[in-house]
Amino acid sequence: MHEKCGVVGIALQDRDAARPLYYSLYALQHRGQESAGIVTHDGFQQHSHVEMELVGDAFGPGDIESLNGTVGIGHVRYPTAGSVDSCCAQPFSVSFKSGSLGLSHNGNLVNAREIRDELAGQGHAFTSDGDTEVIAHDLARNLLEEDLVRAVKRTMSRIHGSYSLTIMHDDTVLGLRDPEGNRPLCIGKLEDGYVIASESAAIDTLDGELVRDVKPGELVVLHSDGTGFDTYQLIDREHAAHCFFEHVYFARPDSVIDGELVYEVRRNLGRKLWAESGVDTDVVMPVPDSGRSFASGYAEAAQDEGADVEFAEGLMKNRYVGRTFIMPTQDERERAVRLKLNPIKSTVAGKTVTLIDDSIVRGTTSTQLIQLLYESGAEEVHMRVGSPPIVAPCYMGIDMATREELIASDRSVEEIRDEIQADSLAYISREAIADALGKASADLCMACVTGQYPYDIDGEETDREVDRPTIAGEASAAADD
Ligand code: AMP
Repeated sequence: MHEKCGVVGIALQDRDAARPLYYSLYALQHRGQESAGIVTHDGFQQHSHVEMELVGDAFGPGDIESLNGTVGIGHVRYPTAGSVDSCCAQPFSVSFKSGSLGLSHNGNLVNAREIRDELAGQGHAFTSDGDTEVIAHDLARNLLEEDLVRAVKRTMSRIHGSYSLTIMHDDTVLGLRDPEGNRPLCIGKLEDGYVIASESAAIDTLDGELVRDVKPGELVVLHSDGTGFDTYQLIDREHAAHCFFEHVYFARPDSVIDGELVYEVRRNLGRKLWAESGVDTDVVMPVPDSGRSFASGYAEAAQDEGADVEFAEGLMKNRYVGRTFIMPTQDERERAVRLKLNPIKSTVAGKTVTLIDDSIVRGTTSTQLIQLLYESGAEEVHMRVGSPPIVAPCYMGIDMATREELIASDRSVEEIRDEIQADSLAYISREAIADALGKASADLCMACVTGQYPYDIDGEETDREVDRPTIAGEASAAADD
């Protein structure tokens, strides 16, 4: 189950949390369009509303008002190619002997099956096949024996993989980021409370201030009265594994992630793309919207060096067509690209064009667009790409494609160029990515472009000493300190 999602948690002083949660889910809508939900707590009980809809459709008149309480968590879930199943919509909520739990999860565990089998063997009944429920059951069990912080630490020592979580235990809201910091999570301050969210754009929407990112391996506990928060560094690792693709494609350009404004990172990558593989053409054109900031940086760098290029938004996007990526068949994906994008012929006819996108995954978008540009009269089409070739699948929460579907998994750059019918093709280097992010490669997850994973995944290679929990042993060891 690949869960690429948006999470949020809020604690306020004396106003209901549901409306600000709803607004912040709007700000995180790009992180998931399959379902949206909010769970609040009023000091006595939980209130929950979760629907298989976009945020705007999920909450009807009166729904927000019925979600009482000054604390709560929210979630938007990304559609996966497989099952669209309401059992996996979140926040996941459960009541157990010592209270209630709500969980919103972004990421993907790689050892959920093992923990699940063990818990099922002890009599835990599961209602979904998602890994979030596994975390909930494990935490619920630990909470019967220990205080909140130790219970979370024990759960953390058992789960392996990628997770940014907002959790609500009774009326306490927590934020937790996995020890590698694979998915983003940040803390914000509001006038009358605190918020934990996947991206800082959600904090901006609430007129709040970004305090800082949650650190890899850190637990944040918001005071239930909205007056502050405590933090606990529960696990320390030598290296992080921040997902570079968040910066390249997934996150909003106006978000600040791990200290970097996403928009500036993308523009900077565009500049580096010019420096590494610039080609003189009449126009530089982004694939909207994902290629826009790369193309503006690329064109600016070209112009700085005296190249006579024009930045042209020559592809018109129909904003009412959903993401082409999630269409189940190749035929539908090709049709959807054509529905979604149409060239403005005067910007293309008789011109040489550099087409810029953030990534090539299956190659559908670039193949279709290059053909369209030729049909519209382009003389040459050169493709430049803001990420290195994607050669391996993501098990950490980005629903990318299978290895067989990835155009670069078994082709050289020249073979891909031939396949997509471009006059030339160049990808950005891995070094440029690390440089633009201001991070050492050892602190980034670049598994989809290297095939080397920061987690221990069956059948895949890893690039580090991975501390994979062995289920029964490690739990008690970790709980002792
Ligand atoms: P493709 O057409 O399969 O080569 O996919 C490339 C296009 O999909 C680019 O325009 C990307 O911006 C976009 N894209 C890349 N990764 C994803 C993803 N995980 N989900 C949805 N779209 C994506």
